[in-house]
Amino acid sequence: MGLKKYLSKRDFTQTSEPEGKKEPKKQKHLQFVVQEHHASHLHYDFRLELDGVLKSWAVPKGPPAEISEKRLAIQVEDHPFDYIHFEGTIPKGNYGAGTVKIWDKGTYEVEGNESLMRKGLEDGHINFILHGKKLKGPYSLVRFNTENNQNQWLFLKKKS
Ligand code: MN
Repeated sequence: MGLKKYLSKRDFTQTSEPEGKKEPKKQKHLQFVVQEHHASHLHYDFRLELDGVLKSWAVPKGPPAEISEKRLAIQVEDHPFDYIHFEGTIPKGNYGAGTVKIWDKGTYEVEGNESLMRKGLEDGHINFILHGKKLKGPYSLVRFNTENNQNQWLFLKKKS
């Protein structure tokens, strides 16, 4: 996906969101973040590091709290890795205007390996284990395409 879409939606003379110019440092463990985003509607942005960017989903009701609970997650454009640290206010009139704060963050493990994760993203089914403060244990994201929307996934919490 790359960052083209991310960059095209934002004016960096206006917003303090990262431009994604820094080459991400390769960490020992893959990282994830959940950002609470008070935009026109409150939602939670769930982001998983993969290949130097953040694969991203907007989750209107937030991540599932109970086992087998399903939450709608809409895949959005990849974000630069630096976005994992972003908190602040996106000014009025800009894309995503409102405040962003980190709700949870940590590391995650993919089921299998990273190439399985890449394939899973294409095929619409990924399994991963989160090691956050709030989110811990195995989760899945499963895509369900409707005629009009190819970006809808279900975010599920699984039995450990
Ligand atoms: Mn958002």
